[in-house]
Parts: sequence; C-alpha cells; structure tokens
Amino acid sequence: MAEKKKFKFSFTLDPVLCMACAACELECKDDGIFINDNVAYDINADNCTRCGKCFRACPAGAIAKVTNVA
Ligand code: SF4
Ligand code: SF4
Repeated sequence: MAEKKKFKFSFTLDPVLCMACAACELECKDDGIFINDNVAYDINADNCTRCGKCFRACPAGAIAKVTNVA
C-alpha cells in the first residue's frame, strides 16, 4: 500500500461555531467537507488537500488550522 502523504497541519471544524452556511462545502473541490453522523459539517482529513479555501471562506471562524503532532 502506498504511503499516504503526510501534512504538517490539518483543518478542523468546530460544530459549535458552525452555522451551517455551506460556504466551506461550496469552496471545497476535493470532497474534504462532509456531513457527519451528527448531521453537522465536518472535515475528512483523508480527502483534504489543505488548500485552505474553507478556512478562508468560513464567516463564523469555525474552521481552524492546527499543527499535526508527530
Ligand atoms: S482545506 Fe481545502 S481540501 Fe481541505 S476541506 Fe478545506 S476546502 Fe476542502
Ligand atoms: S463555512 Fe463555516 S459556518 Fe459555514 S458551514 Fe462551513 S464551517 Fe460552518
């Protein structure tokens, strides 16, 4: 199995801050944004290319950039 590309950072989505405006979903071209089992927007780290479009588009500050450990 090919080794997955490792990123130094990830984006996280805070469901408490999210107001479900769908801006991130519209911006993401890589299927990084999805609706999870709690019917809340979420980020699929496997699909996410770390382009940052959702982060810049979010009007609620619900998407954060976090440094990956290890
Ligand atoms: S950083 Fe880019 S690829 Fe990742 S979820 Fe946001 S818009 Fe999609
Ligand atoms: S852009 Fe921000 S507020 Fe809008 S759905 Fe995405 S995370 Fe939620």
